[in-house]
Amino acid sequence: KSLSRIAEQNPTINAITTVCAEQARRRAEYVDSLSEKEKQALPLCGIPVAVKDNICTKDVPTTCSSRMLAEYIPPYNAHVVERLEAAGAIVVGKASMDEFAMGSSNETSFFGPVKNPRNTDVVPGGSSGGSAAAVAADMVPLALGSDTGGSIRQPASHCGVVGLKPTYGRVSRYGLVAFASSFDQIGPLAQRVEDASLLLSVIAGEDRRDSTNAARAYKHERPETRGDFSNVTVGVPKEYFSHEVSSEVAARIETVIETLRHGGARITEVSLPNVSHAIAAYYVLATAEASSNLARFDGVKYGFRADESGDLARMYCATRREGFGEEVRRRILLGTYVLSSGYYDAYYLQAAKVRTLIKQDFSRAFETCDLLLSPVTPSPAFPVGEKISDPLEMYLTDIFTVSANLAGIPGIAIPAGTAGELPVGAQLMAADWDEKMLLSVGAALH
Ligand code: GLN
Repeated sequence: KSLSRIAEQNPTINAITTVCAEQARRRAEYVDSLSEKEKQALPLCGIPVAVKDNICTKDVPTTCSSRMLAEYIPPYNAHVVERLEAAGAIVVGKASMDEFAMGSSNETSFFGPVKNPRNTDVVPGGSSGGSAAAVAADMVPLALGSDTGGSIRQPASHCGVVGLKPTYGRVSRYGLVAFASSFDQIGPLAQRVEDASLLLSVIAGEDRRDSTNAARAYKHERPETRGDFSNVTVGVPKEYFSHEVSSEVAARIETVIETLRHGGARITEVSLPNVSHAIAAYYVLATAEASSNLARFDGVKYGFRADESGDLARMYCATRREGFGEEVRRRILLGTYVLSSGYYDAYYLQAAKVRTLIKQDFSRAFETCDLLLSPVTPSPAFPVGEKISDPLEMYLTDIFTVSANLAGIPGIAIPAGTAGELPVGAQLMAADWDEKMLLSVGAALH
C-alpha cells in the first residue's frame, strides 16, 4: 500500500529520492513468513518507514540530496536502520532533504525541491522536508529525520505532522552523515504523537559506535491521562513572543496555552535572556563543524570526482566546486573563516561561550518548569522561492528551534491547528532526558 501511495503521490510531491521497492518487497515477504508469536514480538512489524537520505542504508543509495553523493551506496546500515529492521519495520524509501541537511525549505536538494502536500505553492520546510512530506501525504506512517537546528521540528510544523528531536546522545549517530556533530540528532516524524513515541523507543539506546551516545533507552508507554495537566508547570519564554511572530501563529499558541490551563496546568512566564543570540551562535558553530566534517568529500574517498586532468589540488577544487551546491559552499567558507587563525577567538570561541550561557538559561528555567512552550516557526510555511535568494532571511526562520540544539535538550513539534489552510505547529521543550514528559503532554494536546 505504501509503495503504491508513493507511486501515486511522489511525482508531484518529490519527497522520496530512492524508492526501495525490491528490498521492501523482500522484507515484507520475510515478515509475512514469521509466526504470529514472532510477529507480536516486533514493535514495528510490517510498518513502512521512510528514512532521510543522510542516514546510511546498506546497498541503497544515500545521497544527502547532493551531487557529491548522488551515486554513493553505503556498504553498511546506520544504527537506526539496524534497529528498524530488528523491530520488523520495512524501509520503503529514502527521503529527500536540503543538501547535506543545510536549509529550511527543501529547495536546495540536487533532485529538485520537495512540495508541501498541504499546498504545493509553499515549501514543506527543511531540512527533513522529504520525511515530513512523505508522512503528511500518507506515503508512510513513520519517517526518520535529523535535526541539527530544527530540521525535524520545522518541516513537521509546516506539513502538519509530529516531529521530535531527542536529547543529544539519546539516539546513536552511527551511519548518519555528519553535518555539525555536536548538534545532530536523529528523530521520528509521525502522524500521531504516540507513534513518534513508539519509533523513538525503537531507535534510542546504547550504541558503542557513537562516542556521544549516552546509552539511555526510552520506554514507550501509552499515555494514560488525556487532558489532565494538573501536575505540569509550563513556562512560556517571554523572549519568544517579542519577536516577529505572525498573528496567526501567536493565536494558535494562545489556544494551546488555554487548553493547558483548562486541563489544570500551571502556566508561568519565564525568561531566557541569552536566546536572542542563538541564531548567531548556531550559524558560527554549526558552520565551523560542517567545514571540518565536509572536508572528507574530496573526490578521492567518496562519491563524485570532477573530470579534471590537472594536478591533485586542482582535482580537489574542481570536485568541491562542482559537487557541492551554493548553500553548502557558503557554509564551508563561513565555517573555515570562523575557525581560521585570528578569527577563532573573535567568532568561534565567543559563540561557544554564548552556547554555554544559553544552556544555563534553560537549566534555570527547568528548575521551576517541566516544559517550555513556544512556536516552532515565526510564520506558517512560506511560498516556494520566497527566501531562497536571501540566506539570512532563511536562517531567521530557525529562531525558535536552534536553541534546543545549542542546549542539547529535547523538543517536539505538534500540530496546533491551521492558519487558513496552512498548518501551524507548537513546540514543547523539556529538560535533558525528559522525552516522557514531552510525549505524554504532546499526546494529550494533539
Ligand atoms: N535550518 C537549519 C540549518 O540550515 C537547521 C538544519 C538542520 O537542522 N539540519 O542549518
